[in-house]
Amino acid sequence: MEKFILRPTENGLWVGSFPALTAMGVAHGFSTRFGGSGGADGQTLDLGWKTGRQESVACDRKRFFAAMEIGDDRVATIRQVHGTRAIQVDASVLGRSGLDPEAYLGEADALYTDEKRAGLLLGFADCVPVLLFDPVHRALGVVHAGWRGTVSLVAQKTLLTMQRTFGSNPALCFAAIGPSIGPCCYEVDQPVIEAVQAAFAQPERLLRKSEKAGHAKLDLWQANSDQLIAVGVQEKHIFTSQICTAHHHQVFHSHRASAGTAGRMGLLAWLK
Ligand SMILES: [Zn+2]
Repeated sequence: MEKFILRPTENGLWVGSFPALTAMGVAHGFSTRFGGSGGADGQTLDLGWKTGRQESVACDRKRFFAAMEIGDDRVATIRQVHGTRAIQVDASVLGRSGLDPEAYLGEADALYTDEKRAGLLLGFADCVPVLLFDPVHRALGVVHAGWRGTVSLVAQKTLLTMQRTFGSNPALCFAAIGPSIGPCCYEVDQPVIEAVQAAFAQPERLLRKSEKAGHAKLDLWQANSDQLIAVGVQEKHIFTSQICTAHHHQVFHSHRASAGTAGRMGLLAWLK
């Protein structure tokens, strides 16, 4: 089985997914830049209210929901703030899907649920999308982890919240790390290096040598894997797409590669 695939949708988008998760009943997709109605070039799919053309963001969100075959009344989203708060989604809050700039649940960086067909939506451009799945209780979490979220252990904290809420056993859970900036491209400065050294037991696994003095290349994929392994997730249960958004910025939005002018891609996931 391929680890991560990109496929065209009937309405002209390209959506990425992990076939192993799909096979376990987790419907999910990572949008790309393809298939949009607006954006600077009139083609880029941009789901971000802060980044997209105001007249096209709602349209692009609808296109993504249509590509994924879910109605906006079954989707919930949040305003992401590089923190560690996770919000539980149940049927009563579905429909706050970001079709207008104020239609979100609250300020947070993760969503989790055990409700069937409750779509969890987050936005990204280089930050790491982490998907968490408990196949025993059948519960799902989605996490937004930039460097701040990563050193604050937002993925680990969300999994522990699922453990408290649903009794999820990390040893039986699965995780997937989607397209995001890779260690090949993610150069960080001293304050970030120090934050990584303070947060992780083995920072040498995460920081690589950089050509630039006082800098290092940070492996956010490994950092998110390591914090899940530290609470009992099995390494073989963690899937990483290994796709760097900065390298492949023609396909994916990349904050770094576009000097801050990137749009936003979506991760949308639900339990079948
Ligand atoms: Zn790269």
